[in-house]
Amino acid sequence: MTVSEGGHGNSAAGAQVSSPTAAGSLPSFQEMWRELRPIGRHPDSHGYRRYAWTGADAECRAWFRGQAEARGLAYELDRNGNQWAWLGDPAAGDAVVTGSHLDSVPDGGAFDGPLGVVSSFAALDELRARQATFTRPLAIVNFGDEEGARFGLACVGSRLTAGQLTAEQAHRLTDGDGVTLPRAMEAAGYDPDAIGPDPERLARIGAFVELHVEQGRALDLGGDRVGIASAIWPHGRWRFDFRGEANHAGTTRLGDRRDPMLSYAETVLAARREAELAGAVATFGKIVVEPNGVNAIPSLVRGWLDSRAADQASLDTVVGGVEQAAREYAEAHGVDLAVVRESFTPVVEFDHALRDELARILGRDADLKVPVLGTGAGHDAGILSGTIPTAMLFVRNPTGVSHSPAEYAAEDDCVAGVSALADVLEGLACT
Ligand SMILES: [Zn+2]
Repeated sequence: MTVSEGGHGNSAAGAQVSSPTAAGSLPSFQEMWRELRPIGRHPDSHGYRRYAWTGADAECRAWFRGQAEARGLAYELDRNGNQWAWLGDPAAGDAVVTGSHLDSVPDGGAFDGPLGVVSSFAALDELRARQATFTRPLAIVNFGDEEGARFGLACVGSRLTAGQLTAEQAHRLTDGDGVTLPRAMEAAGYDPDAIGPDPERLARIGAFVELHVEQGRALDLGGDRVGIASAIWPHGRWRFDFRGEANHAGTTRLGDRRDPMLSYAETVLAARREAELAGAVATFGKIVVEPNGVNAIPSLVRGWLDSRAADQASLDTVVGGVEQAAREYAEAHGVDLAVVRESFTPVVEFDHALRDELARILGRDADLKVPVLGTGAGHDAGILSGTIPTAMLFVRNPTGVSHSPAEYAAEDDCVAGVSALADVLEGLACT
């Protein structure tokens, strides 16, 4: 049974992670999951389309607020549209914050984001059931527009808050229909003039822990349910322009051709080879061909390389190796080559002290082996790591598939994630 396919009331023993409180009976992990499940789900693809400032986004936000209020938490909406649910006085400072996001990529899976938010509420319920005594304020957060599906920039809510995106830059963001971010916010009932850095809010936070479904197979290959993040890999995009000579596909002798498609094809294979050698990843996933005719030798093949590696040196080796191979192939075919780095994000190391603290807390459970692993995907936790100590917990994803309706985590693993998050929060915020 998967949590995404609940609905038959099959609450297996040990799977209940909520408990009755003074406020009455709260929804279990499985019940919360079922409530969120239909929101923004496309009937044909079965994927999620929860884009920023749309109706589906509003429904997710209403759900978050409802969960906060059902637990007697103080609900706050910040200037950038991020939602907060507080236990204890935020002004006391040194708060422990957990959470993730509820928006999705186009036809995304159910787990990327929502697993972290639902697990946060469930972990709080578990701590209350343990009758834990809190010594630090605790908050659950839903960051807005993490995936960037609508406006093309990821982590807008956390970037604005951390001052890594200015209000002026955000105001220029435009969706595929020509709607600007300010107009979209207004249409959803928010004030776009309020957005901007929020250092006072971040100054209240002593630690941020984001639980997330793993977007790879490292945990599954090691037979582990839960892991701790070490770092977000450095990553970038490079554009390769191979320029040759357009000519007739029927009448131009092979020996007379300057065909950039050949050099490009050989470069794709080189990328695979270099990535395998370095234990990295390298992908040509987008290509533009001119004149793009069935019966024409191309004049231009433009391909984009996305590459990510555990460290800068490995990434440099991969990209340098691909470029060197591309130059040799281009020369052999009489083709010109230009390589342009279009974007680059250096490695994000999560706070070592907090990471070690998580390992120590989870290490108390002798039955739980918790590996520390890197990730090739970006997160709000990565954005905030420049300002406050952040850490991440990953939950096993047996296929490694993410950003797709096939994204999956088994219910037992989700429950193990809730329990690990509760242990971490208890270790950090309770006596
Ligand atoms: Zn995510």
